[in-house]
Amino acid sequence: MKREIYTEDHEDFRAAVRTWLERDVIPNTDKYIADKALPREFWLKAGENGFLGLSLDEEYGGAGDFRFNAVLEEELAKVSAALPTCVGIHTDITAPYINELGTAEQKERWLPGVAAGEILLAIGMTEPSGGSDLAALKTTAVRDGEEWVINGSKTFITNGYSCDIVIVAARTDPEKGAKGITLFAVEATKEGFSRGRKLDKVGMEESDTAELFFENVRVTDAEIVGELNMGFIHMMQKLAQERLSCAVANVAHAKQILTETLQYAKDRQAFGQSIGNFQHNKFLLAELFTQIEVAEAYIDKCVLAHSKGELSAVEASKAKMWSSQTQSEVLDHCVQLHGGYGFMNEYRVARAWRDARVTKIWAGSNEIMKEIIGRDLGL
Ligand SMILES: Cc1cc2nc3c(=O)[nH]c(=O)nc-3n(C[C@H](O)[C@H](O)[C@H](O)COP(=O)(O)OP(=O)(O)OC[C@H]3O[C@@H](n4cnc5c(N)ncnc54)[C@H](O)[C@@H]3O)c2cc1C
Repeated sequence: MKREIYTEDHEDFRAAVRTWLERDVIPNTDKYIADKALPREFWLKAGENGFLGLSLDEEYGGAGDFRFNAVLEEELAKVSAALPTCVGIHTDITAPYINELGTAEQKERWLPGVAAGEILLAIGMTEPSGGSDLAALKTTAVRDGEEWVINGSKTFITNGYSCDIVIVAARTDPEKGAKGITLFAVEATKEGFSRGRKLDKVGMEESDTAELFFENVRVTDAEIVGELNMGFIHMMQKLAQERLSCAVANVAHAKQILTETLQYAKDRQAFGQSIGNFQHNKFLLAELFTQIEVAEAYIDKCVLAHSKGELSAVEASKAKMWSSQTQSEVLDHCVQLHGGYGFMNEYRVARAWRDARVTKIWAGSNEIMKEIIGRDLGL
């Protein structure tokens, strides 16, 4: 089915992203996996190409149209599930906090570096004691004269090991629950800030994920992002773009691996014929392609709505939940169609299957997505 949301401009942009990926990224993916992180060179090249400022104001390289972000996410996802995650956290998820909530001084100070890939961003919401119940977070920022003193820790933070700035959610009023949380931009050079090791994950090896520690880290009002005690509301407002960005990557990643699996099913022989020709497998592939195209149609609708500023939090939750569920189902069948090779790490399908598992957990678990959707049904 012809996708109708992208124009010639978007397709030209897609071609530019592909050129960069083929020239500078794909030849290095094994190294990224071995290093458990993307090198700074990756970010600088992406910045040089103008790919990291898409969510920013025009003067910092912004596109003003989320469809460009979606194209970037799709093309990255075709290479691996980890790439759109790391880039998405920087570009689609964290940069908008500074761009939309930051002061003129903060924007001038950080956004040129963000767009250039010189300042890498991460966002620290989740803590060892919990991620779903954000309002219960324990990291504190206590006023001391003209400064704030931050103490606590964050875990599972994407880009955490390499980031230059982390936006940290901290409790500034212990009495006020969700209404007592503030966001701070903490520069990694601050005294008292430290990082744990790169966490050893089931998949997405090349995306660095770390625990972050804050021990008497001193910041001032100039590092508050948005309004004092409004951090929870700010996070809720920004989660729709985060979830949509994940959804775009989920479907593009699954579609790519399914397309490669179709070729495998045509090539692989058993009982004197291609395994794809057994009726069971033919029907299965027919169902999986249908599932992907239906999911893609919904996500496209969400992308278009978001590019017009019309996407609701509930629609974004549906997109995130459905796409991650679909991806997991499709990739599990792709592994099965590869037989024993599907369980070998050297086969891309095995890695894709492992990588995809987390998409039902993060960015708000699928249970939390259903909670949001259920509430909207009046339940
Ligand atoms: C690889 C990776 C990268 C990540 N990157 C980041 C990042 O960059 N920044 C960041 O802040 N966080 C990040 N996260 C954290 C992620 O968002 C959390 O793991 C997620 O929100 C779930 O929180 P939790 O792990 O504490 O699980 P918990 O909140 O402890 O939940 C445990 C289980 O209980 C279920 N549950 C909880 N509440 C309910 C409820 N009300 N109804 C039904 N079921 C419920 C959950 O769905 C889950 O199945 C990342 C996680 C991973 C694994």
